[in-house]
Amino acid sequence: MIVTETLPALTEGFARAATLLRDAQLVAFPTETVYGLGGDARSDLAVARIFEAKGRPRFNPLIVHVPDLQTAREFARFDTRAEAVAAAFWPGPLTLVLPLRAGSGLSPLVTADLDSVAIRVPAHPVAIALLRAFGGPLAAPSANPSGRISPTRPEHVLDGLQGRIAAVIDGGACAVGVESTILGLAEAPALLRPGGVPVEALEAALGIALPSGGNAHKPNAPGQLASHYAPHALVRLNATDRAAGEVRIGFGPEGPADLSLSHSGDLVEAAANLFHILRRADDLAGKAGRIAVAPIPEVGLGRAINDRLRRAAAPRP
Ligand code: AMP
Ligand code: MG
Repeated sequence: MIVTETLPALTEGFARAATLLRDAQLVAFPTETVYGLGGDARSDLAVARIFEAKGRPRFNPLIVHVPDLQTAREFARFDTRAEAVAAAFWPGPLTLVLPLRAGSGLSPLVTADLDSVAIRVPAHPVAIALLRAFGGPLAAPSANPSGRISPTRPEHVLDGLQGRIAAVIDGGACAVGVESTILGLAEAPALLRPGGVPVEALEAALGIALPSGGNAHKPNAPGQLASHYAPHALVRLNATDRAAGEVRIGFGPEGPADLSLSHSGDLVEAAANLFHILRRADDLAGKAGRIAVAPIPEVGLGRAINDRLRRAAAPRP
């Protein structure tokens, strides 16, 4: 069990936080909305650790935090509409879902392997100072255990995540206290989540009425994910053996394996490898091929891994 450090929102605190983040560790930090649980958005291990620390039962995509619009353009493609709302509301509690830029270098765990990315520039001097000290994008969902109330003070973060994360930066209480508004612009514009920026303000800036999510934009809705996430090959789960013609993905030392999520049976390593291994297995299996996946224990990150695997194995439309 690690001891969570409380770091001051001063130069030495940011330097320590940046060192931890470069080591794929997690640092909670204040934004104007709530405290975020930050990890290097380019590191599979760091992002897997975010899901583990929060106990999230599902690999839903996370919001990427950057210090300015120019940096955001390195990761997402901005059209005229996206440029307009970014100019009007950033820095601020508005997240944009935009097409992912090819070669962005983001971990596929951050985007749930989608071809879109959720990104924002927070309006909090401590968040900006941390992003600049670190010099990279931070994936940061709310810094609370899954299903609990979002934290707006460092004490709240420690209540839920003490011993599960490397550090929290003490930046006092958050001003907004509700999450960012999420505007989907990867496809037809849609409000994906109400939040700190009122929808009326967005509609005024865009000059259009915004339909709410609950459509194909929302990768949270389980049914819609199944086909998006499906490999070409057919997937067989809980496979303790390998049938003729199958590519088998192993976990732990047991059984025959062409690829392995984790030779040592480490669930964090397996989560970090999951999307990469599924893609490689799909390439190896070919279009009419079959993939067999070893049993993964239904505990901790194993639940999120199994959720993702069940979607991959679900019947195709
Ligand atoms: P959180 O980081 O926990 O505040 O929430 C992230 C929210 O952003 C979730 O509701 C996601 O469904 C949404 N989101 C993140 N990335 C995407 C994406 N690429 N497409 C659509 N929604 C996204
Ligand atoms: Mg949350």
